[in-house]
Amino acid sequence: MTAPTAITPDVLTLPRKAPVGADGRINIVGLPRMALQQALIDAGTPERQVKMRLGQIWQWIYHWGVRDFSAMTNLAKEYRSLLETHFVIELPELVTRQLSADGTRKYLVRIAGGHEVEVVYIPEDDRGTLCISSQVGCTLTCSFCHTGTQKLVRNLTAAEIIGQVMLARDDLEDWPLPGTRGVENRRLSNIVLMGMGEPLYNFDAVRDAMKIAMDGEGIALSRRRITLSTSGVVPEIARTASEIGCLLAISFHATTDEVRDRLVPINKKWNINTLLSALREYPKLSNSERITFEYVMLKGVNDTDADARRLVQLIAGIPAKINLIPFNEWPDAPYQRSDWDRIQAFSDIIFRAGYSSPIRKPRGEDIMAACGQLKSATERARRERAQISTDQPSHQ
Ligand code: SAH
Ligand code: SF4
Repeated sequence: MTAPTAITPDVLTLPRKAPVGADGRINIVGLPRMALQQALIDAGTPERQVKMRLGQIWQWIYHWGVRDFSAMTNLAKEYRSLLETHFVIELPELVTRQLSADGTRKYLVRIAGGHEVEVVYIPEDDRGTLCISSQVGCTLTCSFCHTGTQKLVRNLTAAEIIGQVMLARDDLEDWPLPGTRGVENRRLSNIVLMGMGEPLYNFDAVRDAMKIAMDGEGIALSRRRITLSTSGVVPEIARTASEIGCLLAISFHATTDEVRDRLVPINKKWNINTLLSALREYPKLSNSERITFEYVMLKGVNDTDADARRLVQLIAGIPAKINLIPFNEWPDAPYQRSDWDRIQAFSDIIFRAGYSSPIRKPRGEDIMAACGQLKSATERARRERAQISTDQPSHQ
């Protein structure tokens, strides 16, 4: 494999054509800067003004969370009505919000076509993390993952991906007051792409949405506060560094191909060795930007001392931390969570080998908000209805 190249700005700045909505107006949300700039010119913004207008509109929408052109008071009235004629500022719809006893919030978000995705906000002492989805369902079928039991319905658009962040900031009242510069003390300080879907199978939309999240004039989250989790789509890993630049987490979960084939079937395409070589070449490797290896603890499947020792041998030379995830059970799941003393013993071996090995505390368990438990509510309701009808006692 050739070494991945550095940032490729031409890929990032190529104007993509703005999608036109049913009433002919373009949704600004989710458009990369260059595409929005072009759309503003097409709508009649004089070219000599376009950079300034773009900056102003961007700031209203992404820094202050404004959804109404008429509130953009530093734009002339006529220009605001021109914007109104050509554009909309449209987010997916927030359908429900559940609050866990531990403060975790789970949102159900409806996107075009009536599909639904789940989004989870996890408050901690030093941060507030939003776990967002990149697809409805998933094409992959990891055997321990609830989302994996649901077929892929469709990829989310960039608007629907960044829209999840914007909806959560609405709910958390996390937008700075218009006119002020607010990047400190955010309730939503980190994003993880660990909800539904495989982000690297929806690369362009994920990239465009995360570029918006990182843009300094808008939401302005540092790239170090965004983590993309992949099951191991090897050909897209180098692009993640060069085109997005966020942190990377790998759903590793096993230390032999035989077990990983069963748990994470994409391993049959790109096995452990191929994956590790791609990671060794990941261009931003440094101690401050370690790759997170996620490892779900499944009782009697991947949790022996020998597994822990193999794991540290396999990743030798890669600046890494290992995140142990106690399996989050879901109805009819074919696995059980490893016992706590087993998880602790596994963690100790990794720790003694020099790696940080935090055990992820299950959050929001009372509202089924934990990693890998997300599944669209419509799909769940459909299954539950089917279940109820088979459980009905016969009256004959
Ligand atoms: N598709 C991506 C991101 C979404 S899954 C990926 O697979 O990495 C986010 C993380 O949750 C992954 O590490 C995944 O393996 C893990 N996960 C899935 N189901 C789980 C479960 N039931 N319990 C614990 N972790 C789970
Ligand atoms: Fe898809 Fe990730 Fe679940 Fe695997 S773990 S089925 S890749 S969402």
